[in-house]
Amino acid sequence: MIAIDTILSGFPGWTSRGALGWGAIHLVTTETGEKILFDTGATNQRPSLLPKLKEHGILPSDISTVILSHLHFDHASNWDYFIGSEIVVHASDLEWALSAHGPVSELAFRSKAMREHAKLRVITEDCDLKPGLRIIHVPGHTPGSIALKLDRIVICGDAVKNRWELQGDVPTVPASSGPKSLWNAQAFIKSLEKLTSGADKLYPGHDSPLLRTRGGWEPEADPTVGLFFPNGQSQELKFIEDKGLSGHS
Ligand SMILES: [Zn+2]
Repeated sequence: MIAIDTILSGFPGWTSRGALGWGAIHLVTTETGEKILFDTGATNQRPSLLPKLKEHGILPSDISTVILSHLHFDHASNWDYFIGSEIVVHASDLEWALSAHGPVSELAFRSKAMREHAKLRVITEDCDLKPGLRIIHVPGHTPGSIALKLDRIVICGDAVKNRWELQGDVPTVPASSGPKSLWNAQAFIKSLEKLTSGADKLYPGHDSPLLRTRGGWEPEADPTVGLFFPNGQSQELKFIEDKGLSGHS
């Protein structure tokens, strides 16, 4: 059976000081024991990534394939930890990240390095990565956003960032201008259909996993992060929403 372990969970919040940038990172273990990492997080997640993998008994060299859902900083920044791994990215995101319209110069730099990566696999259409693991192209958030489909489960990246996007709260402002950043609204809506049809569980880019219910979709857990201060104090920050979801059933 294919297993999914969340290495770092996604969080939907923003702060008065800007984006938190905490995207979800998942480990997929195939029936033959192959280890596949879905996204690599932001630079602020870099110190946590390897220790968290180690908790699962995983070294970077154990990862055969890294799938980058898209090339935003909070999902693709740490791909260079996995220099021995196959790196899967969609051609449209690579081109976009290198263009004048790309997200930020830092990513363009990293993507140039990525283009020279010996085991880079640039995909242009839906394809089977391994038996039971299908990569699907779901543009909208970015032109080359990709998701991983395992039977009725989909790891979405930011093609579905959070539960509200499934309720029809579709981002409409241009990319880089705020939390509702989006490359193309029409493509985004079309991709939502592709992601949700035939799916019972979604792993969003910035939220807890969502389970299909009779009324729509409900989060499996309340997204939580810890806050730590220099004097040793700490605090748990938990988002709790008590109403059910509807839409895109
Ligand atoms: Zn993104």
